[in-house]
Amino acid sequence: MSSIYTGPVFEMARNQFSHVADYLEIPHSQRDRLLYPKRAIAISCPINLDNGETAVFQGYRVQHHLTLGPTKGGTRFAPSVDVGEVAALAIWMSWKCALAGLPYGGAKGGVTVDVHSLSKRELESLSRRYMQEMIPFVGPYIDVMAPDMGTNEQVMAWFMDTYSMYQGRTVNEIVTGKPVSSGGTEGRREATGLGVAHLVGRALEKIGLEPAKATAIIQGFGNVGSYAALELARQGVTLIGVSDHTACYYDPKGLDVDALLKHAEKHGSLRGFSTEAAFDPNEILSQPCDVLIPAAIERVIDEKVAPKLRCRILAEAANGPTTPEADEILDQRRDEIFVIPDILCNSGGVIVSYFEWVQDLQQLFWRRAEVINRLKDLLDDAFGRVMARVEKDKVSHRMAAMAIGVDKVAKAKATRGLFP
Ligand code: NAD
Repeated sequence: MSSIYTGPVFEMARNQFSHVADYLEIPHSQRDRLLYPKRAIAISCPINLDNGETAVFQGYRVQHHLTLGPTKGGTRFAPSVDVGEVAALAIWMSWKCALAGLPYGGAKGGVTVDVHSLSKRELESLSRRYMQEMIPFVGPYIDVMAPDMGTNEQVMAWFMDTYSMYQGRTVNEIVTGKPVSSGGTEGRREATGLGVAHLVGRALEKIGLEPAKATAIIQGFGNVGSYAALELARQGVTLIGVSDHTACYYDPKGLDVDALLKHAEKHGSLRGFSTEAAFDPNEILSQPCDVLIPAAIERVIDEKVAPKLRCRILAEAANGPTTPEADEILDQRRDEIFVIPDILCNSGGVIVSYFEWVQDLQQLFWRRAEVINRLKDLLDDAFGRVMARVEKDKVSHRMAAMAIGVDKVAKAKATRGLFP
């Protein structure tokens, strides 16, 4: 079938789906209905720049399927954003929500922009204009946005405020990942990184390695990477390598996580943290370590990097960090490398977003401990189901996780039937 969805990231999502569909023996006649997004919205967002000129940014929202409930997914502000990438991310969200047992289809949105080139006022204008253009297509029971790369709690608060102004009342259930002061939930900010660290703990148990004897390397030190680093350090894991888009550091004796966090908070990035520990960012992923955590962008582990990995656990905190070609290599290295696939590894974010939505709808707010306990409970449940499927069918961890997600959506579509 020909479609508007093109590019390497969409091809990756399509290719993965096709492998899973083969394994699940889904008839070919049902595959397009499962894979192709229900809706894609493309908008132009004009804003006034500080220099008096007007700039127009392209924005997108893709809603993958409406079978299990509203759609749910982040909003990415990044130069790479195009409709194919957004669609792939929406599709992965669907399998992720289904694996975690959440009543959502997947969605994703984004604007093609380098946020570092905008002033705070320009970012606010763009965020508000994006939400305003999307109002006809979203809603608390239709499609609920959240943050992703390049967006944060502040952007979510602007989204919520803009939507609410048009409704004439406060509708904080329209987005998740908001500040706690504006209807956000305790625990959301750290949820994804904390979930990554919790699952790394479960994987360490499986391979029989104590956290205090383990080392980790993290690529990306934004929301996910920094909280994963903090939580792993609390568990006793030694961080020996870290990078972001400005700098890369490696020290086999260990890096000071608190100092890295303070530096990133003060300067907005890792640039200038240390001269002694500076390292080649192209080599960081292949340094020996127990836990490797890509927590930045897609497709960083390709067929050239995969054979060189020297980790025992690959915890995919980013979405789509491993290409299908690299995945084949990892499959051959199954006994050496324990993969925590992205749709499981980073699902802490959407799980706590779901808790936030539930609390906003009920206007009944939970304490942090309750949020974190429920988060760990759902993660443990998903981890257990993935491990059971691996054991039963002798498939890779990724295949098991994706199969559970795809199977759930396929069964729901089959039982609902085709309207009219
Ligand atoms: P963020 O914008 O807060 O941070 C991204 C980090 O990646 C920054 O430190 C940036 O400098 C770094 N980075 C960018 N390009 C890089 C490169 N080429 N090499 C090394 N570092 C690079 O984003 P985030 O919210 O932390 O998201 C990171 C990843 O996790 C994305 O793939 C996102 O889709 C995924 N994710 C995020 C959440 C969430 O709740 N934030 C949930 C699930 C998945």
